[in-house]
Amino acid sequence: MMGNHFSIILLPTNKCNVNCEYCFEDKTDDRMSLDQLSTVMSKVFDYMDESSIRGLTIHWQGGEIMTMPLEWFEGAHDLIQNAAVTRGKVVEHGLQSNLIGYHARWNNLIQEMFGNAVGTSMDYPNVHRKLFNGSASDYTRIWKYNVQSALSAGINIGVIAVPNQSTLDVGAEEFYSYFVDEIGVKSFQVNTPFPGGEENDTKKTLGLDIEQLGQFFVDLTDVWLERGYNRGVSVGPVDELVQRFTDGGGCLPCIWQSNCADEFISIDARGFVAQCDCWVTSYPEYFFGNIYENDSLGKMLLESSARRRFVERPGVVIPKDCIRCDYLSICHGGCPVRTYTFSGTMFEKDPYCGVYLSIFRKAEEAAAKLAQARALNKQAQTGSVSVSQRKQIPEDTLITNLPILPSRLVQIERRH
Ligand code: SF4
Ligand code: SF4
Ligand code: SF4
Repeated sequence: MMGNHFSIILLPTNKCNVNCEYCFEDKTDDRMSLDQLSTVMSKVFDYMDESSIRGLTIHWQGGEIMTMPLEWFEGAHDLIQNAAVTRGKVVEHGLQSNLIGYHARWNNLIQEMFGNAVGTSMDYPNVHRKLFNGSASDYTRIWKYNVQSALSAGINIGVIAVPNQSTLDVGAEEFYSYFVDEIGVKSFQVNTPFPGGEENDTKKTLGLDIEQLGQFFVDLTDVWLERGYNRGVSVGPVDELVQRFTDGGGCLPCIWQSNCADEFISIDARGFVAQCDCWVTSYPEYFFGNIYENDSLGKMLLESSARRRFVERPGVVIPKDCIRCDYLSICHGGCPVRTYTFSGTMFEKDPYCGVYLSIFRKAEEAAAKLAQARALNKQAQTGSVSVSQRKQIPEDTLITNLPILPSRLVQIERRH
């Protein structure tokens, strides 16, 4: 099902140390023991053997991952590496944390297990991310301090931001400046909000005006092209889309895969298996099964009626809603969980369709302009460009060769 690589979003804890108002998780105090992790890994490797897959990426998140003891992770790392060697597998690890519990004693583990990189989350302005007994500004203050400590320790930080109405009000320029100039990150990704999990008043306000949100992404693309593109800053998902329109490459997020059900599964601390972290923590009716209770992960995935609904979604949505779309080969009808949480069914196109169209058109236009600049740049270097043509080349593209975009720290949709 997943080519020669398999990915899992692993939640060894369903517990969190903060209280974000838009959180889609129904949190519990469950934690995975090392014995349970050993069982999970054994069944995952069995499944990979059956499917002739050698490579595995584990995206670690929660709940909040840093509520687990550091020693647990050291044990987990040894356990997985030893099992991988025995089973002839190659395992990579990615870490997603809110960083509220970060401390320098995590640094060695982050370097050895996670390639010295962490994905974290923050919105600008921060409205919904709060401490249990504190305001959004208290949260922001601690997060900023910890991120800057981690950056000072040489850790690569990628940030996921979810826009709210205040984000649209301040605009793309201020948003970009906050992350890049004030915080100092070189990689961030903007995800669209959705009202997953139990209802509350905040979730009723998460939907944003589609036209305004689309314009925000267009403006953000312009800011990034002017201030970040040639300076090693990546802004997802726009950067990868520009790459896609440039040479067919680019690593697009799960919302734009031909079917996210072909890409990965999520397993939580209780052993439940579902499509991704949102489904596994909030929608029992969409669980594929429990890995502790099933001998074969492959059989469970094959026989799950819940999983079949994900597999069948594009076959229903595309002929109905998307068949005439110019960007069908990129988007495939979008994200099931966004559709489900706004529309009550996953068998419709993504409610952010209008935003995606704005982003696709802008990225396509940007790729065309960059290709033209690249061609003129080449001619300028060989002396075969006219004076008037030379004036059309942006300064930045004349100074250096246009870079290959940096690969992204995170590709799955995460919020924690
Ligand atoms: S976020 Fe959406 S596209 Fe990504 S795995 Fe979950 S349901 Fe699929
Ligand atoms: S952009 Fe809209 S119409 Fe096009 S494939 Fe995506 S959801 Fe369907
Ligand atoms: S969004 Fe993530 S960090 Fe925030 S409360 Fe939920 S699990 Fe915790």
